[in-house]
Parts: sequence; structure tokens; C-alpha cells
Amino acid sequence: MTKNKTNPAFKADTLLAHTGRTPKEFYGFVNPPVVHASTVLFPDIETLTTGNQPYVYGRRGTPTTEALETAISELEGAAGAKLATSGLNAIALACLSCLSANDHILIPDTAYGPTRHFADTVLPKYGIEVTYYDQALAGDIKTVFQPNTKAVFTEAPGSLTFEMQDIPAIAAAAKSIGATVLMDNTWASPLYCKPLSLGVDLSIQAGTKYIVGHSDVMLGTIAASEAAWPALDEFHGAMGIHIAPDDIYLALRGLRTLSVRLERHMKNTLEVAHWLGTRSEVGDIRYPALERDPGHAIWKRDFTGACGLFAFDFKAGTTEAQSTAFFNALEIFGLGYSWGGFESLALPVKLKGIRTATVTDPNLRSARLHIGLEDPQDIIADLDQAFAKAFT
Ligand SMILES: *Cc1c(COP(=O)(O)O)cnc(C)c1O
Repeated sequence: MTKNKTNPAFKADTLLAHTGRTPKEFYGFVNPPVVHASTVLFPDIETLTTGNQPYVYGRRGTPTTEALETAISELEGAAGAKLATSGLNAIALACLSCLSANDHILIPDTAYGPTRHFADTVLPKYGIEVTYYDQALAGDIKTVFQPNTKAVFTEAPGSLTFEMQDIPAIAAAAKSIGATVLMDNTWASPLYCKPLSLGVDLSIQAGTKYIVGHSDVMLGTIAASEAAWPALDEFHGAMGIHIAPDDIYLALRGLRTLSVRLERHMKNTLEVAHWLGTRSEVGDIRYPALERDPGHAIWKRDFTGACGLFAFDFKAGTTEAQSTAFFNALEIFGLGYSWGGFESLALPVKLKGIRTATVTDPNLRSARLHIGLEDPQDIIADLDQAFAKAFT
């Protein structure tokens, strides 16, 4: 793969427009073909025996899979990239590619819920030990290392509560014991954070979110450093992972507009977040792009932008009935899981029972919002009328 490299001098927007497509190889058509394939024919027995042709079997890769893998690899500055059936599948594959029986993995307390479910139910079955760590640990993560620690998982900002992690410090500590560093980089996308440049070995995306960008496909990506690539490539092949070509095509289409969409998501989100800051119904706002956010300095150092996902806490004393009334009153915001599409979404957040390594307020009520591409004035008006209905 990556046999057709895009000019490495290109800036991000130019790369997005040109990576992963080779019109000259496909009669000049701008976009790569959607190849539906199992069998690939060989011209003779000699070629079949050596396998010496670009594609040998549908599951092992097609011009369609290669196009998206190349694009992700180039965007992440990786040695190579692989696709997964969902973001969670990418997390599972990445973890299993670098762990064996009797190894130990560290996972931040703020990891995405289904990541914890995978770590709690699958890894122990294969003799892999899991410890959740306080996501605030930086170089001090050394204090939770064990002799068998082989992988350190990171995710920034944290799921639901949006704490930043000091990825370079964690990565440096992990490197000192030869552990593989993984990062769930879905929030920033490969555009606003480059995990591999921060010392990460396996950068994971729920492509379902902003890469696809239109709430119509589930897909994951894993980009690997030189050190982590051979094991990922081998494991991915052995597991028989194959992504439907039509879905890959939609992901490639989404990718082309990632930059313009993210720019608008961030602008709209800052406008909504600033407005929320003026509301008496609102406590803390959890968005690292805000100057008053505790993670702002790290965000500014390591990231070049922010997406449309954040949370705000309802002011202390807000009742369950008030919070429920607020969500039910929303008209523009849909109530539902996932995010990263063009539409605004809202979700109530309760932390009770979901964290084990850190202390969180079990009574905290928050709202996780995804700010879409609607006009921010309409979004604000929707929140305004929902507050009015719920808090009078
Ligand atoms: C959504 C999400 C995932 C999982 O992606 P799916 O495609 O839904 O499996 C993983 N990590 C983060 C941070 C996510 O938001």
C-alpha cells in the first residue's frame, strides 16, 4: 500500500483533496472505483504461485480499501493504516495486535465506555491484565507500570467529561519500558491532532464520526508507527477483517470535506459554548478549546483545533425531572448516540458507577452536545426555549 504517495510538502487541505486517489490508473476518473470483489484472477500459474501482482484476494485488499488506507496513513503520518468495521473494532484490533497472554495494559479511567467493556470482558479471557489509571497522570504514569506492562492506551479528551491527557509525557514514559502507546483520536480527527508525532504507535479513529461525517456508515481506522505496523498488518490479515466497498467509498467522500466541516463545527460550538457560559442553568462547560477549561494549555500545545462535541454540567441542585424536561423540549437537537454528522445531538450524562480509578461526583448531571452545521443562532434559540420549559 501507499504505493502512490501524495506530495509530502502539501498542506492539510491540499492533502485532503488529493490523497488516496490516482485518476491516471483509472481512465482519468476523479474518484477511485468501488471494487466489489472476492476472486482476483492471475494470468498464469507462475504469478499465482508467487502472488506477484498488486491484488490477490478481495479480503486482502482492493483499489478501494487501498485508497482509504493510503489517505488515513498519509493524514496521520503513519507507516501504514488498516480499516476496521467500526471504531470499537479498531480499538479491539489495535489492542490485540500488540498484546499477548500474561501482558498488562493500562487504560485511562475516562476511556470510551465500550472500550472499557471490551477490556473488561474480552482481554481477561485471553490472559491479559487490565488496570484503569487516573487520566491526569502524565510522566507519573510510571507509578502504575508493572513488569508486564506492554501497552498504554490513551484518549484525549476523555469520554463524556473531556479531560485532556499529556500524551507526549505518557508516551515518553511508556517508551522507556518498551510499551506500545495507543490513542483513541476520534475527537480531534487526524486533522486536529497527529498522535504519531506525539509519540503514539497506534492512532485509532472511529471513522463513523467525522471522517464519514454524515451519520450513515460505521467504520474504524488504525494508523501505525514503523514499530507497530508489522504486528498490526499481520494481526488484521489473520482476523479476516473486510469492509464493504460502498462504505469505504462514503468514507472517502466524507474525508474530502473534513476540513471545512470541522472548521464550521468548531466555530458554531465556540459560539454555543460562550452563550451557555452566560446561563444561570449551567455549571462547568467541558470544552478544551475554551480558555477557562483545565485542559486548555495541553489542547493548545498538542492540538490545532476542536470539534463539535462537548458537555456542560447543569448547575448544582438541578433535578432529574428538570434535566429530562430539558432534553425532551429540544427540537433541533436529536436524542441519540454517536456524533460527528452534520446534525446537532444531545445526550444526558450520568457518571455514577462508570469510573473506577478516579473520584467523580455521582450526583453530577451533564448534557453532552454535538453541535452540527445548522445556524448557531437557531441552535442557541433551541437551547434557550428548552431551558425556559425545563427550569420554570
Ligand atoms: C464512537 C466512538 C467510538 C466507537 O466508534 P463506533 O464506530 O461507534 O464503534 C470510539 N471512540 C470514541 C471516542 C467514540 O466517540
